[in-house]
Amino acid sequence: ESFTDVNFSDVIMTNLRKTKYEKPTPIQKWSIPVIISGRDMMGCAQTGSGKTASFLLPMLTKMLGTGFEPPIVEDGCAMPLMLVMAPTRELVLQIFHETRKFSFDTVVRAVVAYGGVSSSHQEKDILKGAHIVIATPGRLIDFIGKKKINLSKLKYLVLDEVDRMLDMGFHTAIESILSQGESGMPSTNSRQTVVFSATIPEEVQKLAAKLLREDYIFVT
Ligand code: AMP
Repeated sequence: ESFTDVNFSDVIMTNLRKTKYEKPTPIQKWSIPVIISGRDMMGCAQTGSGKTASFLLPMLTKMLGTGFEPPIVEDGCAMPLMLVMAPTRELVLQIFHETRKFSFDTVVRAVVAYGGVSSSHQEKDILKGAHIVIATPGRLIDFIGKKKINLSKLKYLVLDEVDRMLDMGFHTAIESILSQGESGMPSTNSRQTVVFSATIPEEVQKLAAKLLREDYIFVT
């Protein structure tokens, strides 16, 4: 029942020690081995459960593990390895800060994209290259439409607080990002997908069935 049971990369372990998280929360204890193993996952978890670290620690470890390269920008379009979608600017920023903590002293570059502010600053930052994009669905759609972000190199996809995203009316935006059209989103089998939701109404179940591999693991 400690973080040292898992083979996180040394740098992740060092960063984890600095956070003073002593032992994994329940969602971390169950999610981390599933995500490390490469399986898709649906996690039923509330805010405050530690769900952010439960996907960041294993995904950063996997990302840094295999032939890690500088972020790709082709023809003025950034091609991230990992995308985290979240309902609000506050949540995007929280996830971003947690990402910065855990990827400290690595070459991992994370950027944010959310609405309600001008997009020019975000755009400049994205075009410097990004391994990880943390975004609200609406602003992400804008960047995809303007061909500033393309998801065809994506390996890791996280949807955080899906029930809230649907409540906020992001259904169409999410569907459009997930459809393998303009966004470049790889097929279900060519990426690893993790979905978190505090509640699992039918709408969330339907979306999960569409975007997770059939053998996904349910963690609560
Ligand atoms: P989250 O549910 O991911 O928003 O995390 C809620 C809060 O718990 C954040 O402030 C985290 O920094 C903190 N936290 C996450 N995991 C742990 C842990 N294992 N031990 C102590 N605090 C944690």
